[in-house]
Amino acid sequence: MTIYCPTCNRSSDECRFIGSFCEFCAASKLKMDVPDFAKISQCRFCERLKIKGEYVDMDMDSLGRALKYALNIPDRKVDIDKYANGMAYIHVHKETESADAGVAMRIRVRVIHATCRRCFRMSAGYYQGVVQLRGNRMKIERVKEQMKRYLEKREEFISKEEKQTNGIDLYVSSKQAANSFFMDFKMKPEKSFRLYGMRRGMKVYRNTYSLHL
Ligand SMILES: [Zn+2]
Ligand SMILES: [Zn+2]
Repeated sequence: MTIYCPTCNRSSDECRFIGSFCEFCAASKLKMDVPDFAKISQCRFCERLKIKGEYVDMDMDSLGRALKYALNIPDRKVDIDKYANGMAYIHVHKETESADAGVAMRIRVRVIHATCRRCFRMSAGYYQGVVQLRGNRMKIERVKEQMKRYLEKREEFISKEEKQTNGIDLYVSSKQAANSFFMDFKMKPEKSFRLYGMRRGMKVYRNTYSLHL
């Protein structure tokens, strides 16, 4: 059965149809209000992208999401075909339809460099506690890696490592994250608290965790 495009009256014998519109009108509808220029924000240190106030790892998927927000087209999806020299070759399609029903576009991208909170605190050598790992070298290495991953998932970090004769000291950015790490991994370090200073009229303590492995 021949159908006709309600916008331009082309028939389905002449060209491909996407839904009830001809492919040309479907494409121009998808391109509607899509600017050819977008600004995205990226951390200069870890290169993560800022999307809706949150930093996420940079890959084609997150870049697509960042562009979608930057272009302000919540009803459409953006897939990246290629990203090079400040140009994004994208595919815009409806959220509900597959990418091959979409339209290809070229967008100029300007990257605004920022510093995420994690990198800012890291560069300032920020820490709330010291984890002293002592004992078996291999076990120490393993716990250190576990801890690193655990902290990174929670936007926290190890700001400094200090080798000691029988182990290592790790300066960790969050007491709370360190506490939950030891809970989750069922480790029971010895804890001590040292008064570090005052902040907004409250005493601030830095924790020391001693763990023998
Ligand atoms: Zn048409
Ligand atoms: Zn960063």
